[in-house]
Amino acid sequence: MLEVKDLVVAYGKVKAVKGISFKVDQGQVVSLLGTNGAGKTTTLRTISGLNRPETGEIWFEGERIDKTPAHQVVMKGLAQSPEGRRIFPRLTVEDNLLLGAFARKDSDGIAKDLDRVYDLFDILRERRTQPAGTFSGGEQQMLAIGRAMMSRPKLLMLDEPSMGLSPLMMQRIMSTIRTLQGEGVTILLVEQNAAAALKLSDWAYVLEVGQITLDGTGEQLLGDDRVRRAYLGED
Ligand code: ATP
Repeated sequence: MLEVKDLVVAYGKVKAVKGISFKVDQGQVVSLLGTNGAGKTTTLRTISGLNRPETGEIWFEGERIDKTPAHQVVMKGLAQSPEGRRIFPRLTVEDNLLLGAFARKDSDGIAKDLDRVYDLFDILRERRTQPAGTFSGGEQQMLAIGRAMMSRPKLLMLDEPSMGLSPLMMQRIMSTIRTLQGEGVTILLVEQNAAAALKLSDWAYVLEVGQITLDGTGEQLLGDDRVRRAYLGED
């Protein structure tokens, strides 16, 4: 479904991503793991069309998209819930969600998807008319995921969805990811919480200073000594 080939992304002279290749198959949850500065966010932003690669290719459903403008990437069915959430604090919860549907014109479908987001996150329904800026971190995270879902993506990319969340909220987000997968959404997940991500992942890649150093099924990586030491805090 998504294939990244030899991707190099630089900020000025600094290469943040140094020639990575990976793929995401339809229906899977795939994780990109790595410590701060490994290049995870840069990779997602480049797939979304927000950064341009220096070299390399990005293919989505058989089409090359590495030169496609970001709003057209969304229209092709690829949405990103950004790190740090980036919600609009003065807009209501519902208006924030509707922004996610900016590229759509099917008002019946939009209403249906709004309901689906509200079914997943009941707090959003309860507070639909309130300004989003009053939300806690976890609630804002739900809103950001909900907003990304409103474009009805085939592939949803989540950047650190558990960041700053309580363990309970984190569980909630992780179980939502499973629900979405069950509904046929393919997911590319960037997470610092390696244990939680690997438990959900059909496949995972470890990114270290701009390069993929390891990959395997979630289960394989959970059992891998290097992963256990570096990312699961074990001796
Ligand atoms: P984190 O989990 O901390 O967000 P990350 O794996 O997502 O880390 P990136 O944010 O992709 O990593 O950053 C990769 C490298 O690129 C880092 O060295 C970072 O300092 C650098 N970088 C990121 N954004 C910029 C920018 N706008 N200008 C210059 N350098 C940048």
